[in-house]
Amino acid sequence: MTQSSAATIFGEAALQGYPVSTLYVIATPIGNVCDITVRALHVLNLVDAVACEDTRNTGQLLSRYGVVKPLIAAHQHNEREVADKLIARLQAGARIALVSDAGTPAVSDPGARIVDAVRAAGLRVMPLPGPSAAIAALSASGLLSDEFYFVGFLPAKGKQREARLQPLRTLAATLVFYEAPHRIADCVEALAAAFEPQRQIVFARELTKLFEQVHRCRLSEAQAWLASDAHREKGEFVVLLEGAPAAAGQDQLEADRVLQILLAECPLKQAAALAAQILGQKKNALYERALELKNMQSIA
Ligand code: SAM
Repeated sequence: MTQSSAATIFGEAALQGYPVSTLYVIATPIGNVCDITVRALHVLNLVDAVACEDTRNTGQLLSRYGVVKPLIAAHQHNEREVADKLIARLQAGARIALVSDAGTPAVSDPGARIVDAVRAAGLRVMPLPGPSAAIAALSASGLLSDEFYFVGFLPAKGKQREARLQPLRTLAATLVFYEAPHRIADCVEALAAAFEPQRQIVFARELTKLFEQVHRCRLSEAQAWLASDAHREKGEFVVLLEGAPAAAGQDQLEADRVLQILLAECPLKQAAALAAQILGQKKNALYERALELKNMQSIA
């Protein structure tokens, strides 16, 4: 890019108005520092302060772009208190940026409570879109993403994780999970237990970084793939799972409906046997499902 075209593009970023008394929600890179948008840089230079999840991280990021601004810590433990302070400054005419450590604020990251409070105070919130790991993963997966369901992080505990997965079994949409490296093996084990083995799974690992990897296989092959190389459990992950085939979703819904009626009236084994006669489905699978439904009831 020539100097004059760079000046032109920054000039274009400035064309849109950036009013005072506004909170600017700005997406930042998820790995590659170059994935910042021209508008994000323009607004980061313009604002009076930057509210951020971790002042050290954001300080380092801003210094890569030569931006020096007062930083305000705004993390999951102080969002409500900090929102009041930001609102006071916005009401006095400030422009404030809100960023998280990586990606889009408020997407499995702090920010939503601040945005909610700022909007409730009648102040303007402007998004500056950019990187998000979920969207990057979907775009490179080849899975159909006309419809997707963002799950984010699964609960850490086994029983709660199972309960979270059960209602997702019949969704036709592609499922999107975030996962930390120390839980990726447990996550995949839970997916393998809950969903049909023939579904496609995608591991989108270390996106935009040196060791980026997007691997797609059947769910039945996923645990072996992960275990076959210690490096594969390292780094940051988005896991995508193909949605349920439409017919399977309908069958499952009908089985759940029948089982729930029967479970209210008779013991588990008998409910599974009667459901097998009514639905013409396998007794063992219905017994397992009845057990899950009962467990879900006891957790709820
Ligand atoms: N707000 C962020 C976004 O818009 O994507 C997500 C923040 S969340 C705290 C962090 C999780 O996002 C990680 O545990 C991982 O699941 C996913 N993630 C972030 N960066 C990633 C990357 N470079 N590659 C793969 N997954 C990533």
